[in-house]
Amino acid sequence: MSSAVVAAAEPWTTEAALPAEVPLNERDGRYLRAAIALADRGRSRGNRPFGAVLVSPDDEVMGEAWCNTTETGDCTGHAETGLVRAVSPRYSREQLAAATLYSSGEPCVMCAGAIFWSNVRRVVYGIDAQRLRVFRGERLDQRDAELSCRDVFNASPYAIECVGPALIEEASQSHRGAWKL
Ligand SMILES: [Zn+2]
Repeated sequence: MSSAVVAAAEPWTTEAALPAEVPLNERDGRYLRAAIALADRGRSRGNRPFGAVLVSPDDEVMGEAWCNTTETGDCTGHAETGLVRAVSPRYSREQLAAATLYSSGEPCVMCAGAIFWSNVRRVVYGIDAQRLRVFRGERLDQRDAELSCRDVFNASPYAIECVGPALIEEASQSHRGAWKL
């Protein structure tokens, strides 16, 4: 193997037991790509690259958000939590229960909690938390709480479907070079 190939390899290719990519249908792929595009918009404004979009069963985009923690100074300004904050006053719990939340990255514990409280019952995400940790690096202030969103969703009294990781390569693109000091 040439050194160029090694340099181009993803940093996690030597890691074992990473979650396998989940194939998406055309519709889920389209909206997850919209969430990834929002991550890039957020990044272009100086934030960590995360985006989220909420979509109704009849293809209404109910809300969009990107992580805005850097531009606002609000540490709770993650994309999914910001999205829940924006849509929950505007839609009924029944409308939210029928919607799907697409997130460019696997929801953290806070966002999984916000999704639970929103009554949204379906989540599709791009890059998973384990692969994200490669980009976050070893700095303690960049590391996440290592509790899976599925642990939060599985503690719900009703089912919350969780699909991912998906479109890993596309979702990873937003993070390249985004976690430098
Ligand atoms: Zn979060």
